[in-house]
Amino acid sequence: SRAQAMEVDGSPDVRYEDIGGLDEQIREVREAVEQPLLAPEQFEEVGIEPPAGVLLHGPPGTGKTMLAKAVANETDATFIKMAGSELVQKFIGEGARLVRDLFELAGEREPAVIFIDEIDAIASKRTDSKTSGDAEVQRTMMQLLSEMDGFDERGEIRIIAATNRFDMLDRAILRPGRFDRLIEVPVPELEGRKRILDIHTAEMPLAEDLDLDAVADLTDGFSGAELASLTTEAGMFAIRDGRTTVEMQDFEDAHEKVSVDGEDSAGTPI
Ligand code: ATP
Repeated sequence: SRAQAMEVDGSPDVRYEDIGGLDEQIREVREAVEQPLLAPEQFEEVGIEPPAGVLLHGPPGTGKTMLAKAVANETDATFIKMAGSELVQKFIGEGARLVRDLFELAGEREPAVIFIDEIDAIASKRTDSKTSGDAEVQRTMMQLLSEMDGFDERGEIRIIAATNRFDMLDRAILRPGRFDRLIEVPVPELEGRKRILDIHTAEMPLAEDLDLDAVADLTDGFSGAELASLTTEAGMFAIRDGRTTVEMQDFEDAHEKVSVDGEDSAGTPI
């Protein structure tokens, strides 16, 4: 089941320039993950340990997975992803063993970036009751902590975790030597939305009248993932209308559609 529980990618295809509006976050990830992999001697010379683990936290769809993939790509490291929720829901009773397998695999495939998505599923505050399910989750988390404690910070394996629920996290995982570098990944501001729209329309034939600044204005509160699906929807409207160029009206229709869909599923407008 090791193969099913982990996603292994020898060369993920995300680059830093594919990520919009997160320049500061990219800088921090490079410092905490890329530098120790590419220039460990700098840390030795200065006499400090690099951060043991990086925790990316922020709303869904803001680019956390992209950041982890990009840093693996740019350092030629193997990207190994495991989802905390799957450990708990799909591989019941196997969590601790899978965490052990995860680090073993990373050791075989160094340099490697381990990405643990939805870490809150195995490291949440509420995991303190005596029910058997929670005891199992607890064991999985203890295994993760012990792997990290026995870990060489100057080695060829870097660990990144992500969560949408920072407030729910068990503080034990944030101690020094564990996830001791926190990077917030927020929804994009106006400038970031413009940049993300530029990235996602790079291959799209746009009509003269299309003003991406105006689209960025319309989409306050949208995540990168929502901007990506807005762009796809706009393209769909153009196709439906028999055109190969995408117009402002398509983005307006797409905006209308995703806003209505958002209301339907979440009960509140996007
Ligand atoms: P989740 O918390 O739901 O796992 P995430 O923060 O890891 O989400 P990603 O998986 O990185 O989000 O993003 C999903 C998709 O949304 C990306 O594949 C990309 O198309 C788009 N996207 C999200 N953020 C950005 C961004 N900052 N720049 C460009 N595209 C983005």
